[in-house]
Amino acid sequence: MAYTYDPKNIFAKILTGEIPNKTVLETEHTLAFRDIYPQAPVHVLVIPKGAYVCYDHFAQEASDAEILDFNRVIGEVCRMEGLEAGGYRLISNAGRDGVQEVPHLHVHILAGRPLGRMLEKA
Ligand code: 5GP
Repeated sequence: MAYTYDPKNIFAKILTGEIPNKTVLETEHTLAFRDIYPQAPVHVLVIPKGAYVCYDHFAQEASDAEILDFNRVIGEVCRMEGLEAGGYRLISNAGRDGVQEVPHLHVHILAGRPLGRMLEKA
């Protein structure tokens, strides 16, 4: 599928500095920052700096360097936040059924309390 990226989405504005953020880690290709409405004691969003709508878009079109950096940052944030012992959950919502609110790829890192089962029954 061909994705159309909306350059006015909230995370695009965070990347330009138009909207402030609480940065956890920034690298050449990736930004990690705290979710404005945290759903757990630790709730960090990791986004690529490139214009990718969701995970499969990124996996198909991003360079190897971007993909490597993105994944390394996710792991590094888990280490920086001290999550190895207690554990954590990674979530990346995509599209309608994934109930994605912001159309710029992001991985949620959630931790700091028991997070329950992965999905509630519909
Ligand atoms: P989604 O539902 O798209 O997977 O998640 C979007 C996330 O972005 C939500 O958890 C929401 O709280 C977060 N969010 C929305 N607007 C902002 C913002 O302006 N700043 C930050 N830091 N997070 C935001």
